[in-house]
Amino acid sequence: MSSFQSSRFAGLTAYVPGEQPRDRRYIKLNTNESPYPPSESVLRAAAEAAKGLNLYCDPTALGLRMAAAEVYGVTPEMVLPVNGSDEILNFAFMAFCDRGTPVAYPETSYGFYPVLADLHGIIKREIPLKNDFSVDFHDYLGLGCTVVIANPNAPTGIALGLDEVERIVAANPGNVVVIDEAYVDFGAESAISLTKKYENLLVTRTFSKSHSLAGARLGFGIGDKGLIADLTAIKDSTNPYNVNAMTQAAGIAAFKDNGYYMENCRRVARTREDTAESLRALGFEATPSKANFLFVRHPEISGGELYEKLRGKGILVRHFSKESIAGYNRITVGAPEEMEALIRATRDILSGAGGNSNAKK
Ligand code: PMP
Repeated sequence: MSSFQSSRFAGLTAYVPGEQPRDRRYIKLNTNESPYPPSESVLRAAAEAAKGLNLYCDPTALGLRMAAAEVYGVTPEMVLPVNGSDEILNFAFMAFCDRGTPVAYPETSYGFYPVLADLHGIIKREIPLKNDFSVDFHDYLGLGCTVVIANPNAPTGIALGLDEVERIVAANPGNVVVIDEAYVDFGAESAISLTKKYENLLVTRTFSKSHSLAGARLGFGIGDKGLIADLTAIKDSTNPYNVNAMTQAAGIAAFKDNGYYMENCRRVARTREDTAESLRALGFEATPSKANFLFVRHPEISGGELYEKLRGKGILVRHFSKESIAGYNRITVGAPEEMEALIRATRDILSGAGGNSNAKK
């Protein structure tokens, strides 16, 4: 920190993204990316758009909003494309929270929520999970705060049903409820249909996981046109060209290829179930995840030790130091062969054997 920094940010603890090391090739199971590549037409669309990079992109991203509206069954005025869903979360904290309107979210959830609350000086109401790590929707009825819930939740992967989400939205008519659906395409129920019924519901989506575009940075806010207008005003007051030309083109092409991506999500969900079964056979406990990751712990090895030993074998998983979940690791579901390598390495670690490196050389 320099002596020039605004005192407003003196105590800021920044979000720490999962590691992206470049020292060697790892089997990357730590940041929930898709193991499958973007479709050919997405690559072609991005390359074509690159030819026009001397010009600014469309600040209204109209083509992308139209494509999203068609796939999600809403109108283009109900969609705001953003530079990754982290950006729409930031806009939502700015637009719908302030000193008088705190934010409530599950105590164990996406680590960006407390960072954004602190960034904007918003009071946090962190609501504990149940003992089985699930969210109890009763805790979120009539709170008088902005509510943010990841569904499925991170890092547990446990999802609320659509009826439970609707109960929360309906019970907070004077406040915005944000449902962060970063992982919904891997097996949970989306609340997008409810955005036409409730003017206080904002659903956020990302193309980082289900649509193989983590590096392109593309996400969406979907909600009543009043909410989207509020968020667009903040977007236009910070970065009007927030989604670059190549990403807009890639996103439109990805919506046209939605079937390819949904099939990939089903493949990932099948691999998730197979991997969970193999890990349970090795003695792991796993939460019932509907996301593209597993959240697991083993009675005989700490989360930190397993993380370190897998890393030594060229496999990256995510370990969180937060006390209540420090025994666990979050393991992204990759391609079947990557998960087989994970199972082999884990079996070696548990049996105390050194084993050979599983990293791709
Ligand atoms: N929400 C949740 C629950 C996440 O886990 C992530 C991924 N880190 C995001 C939002 C943000 O994803 P992105 O900015 O890549 O769209």
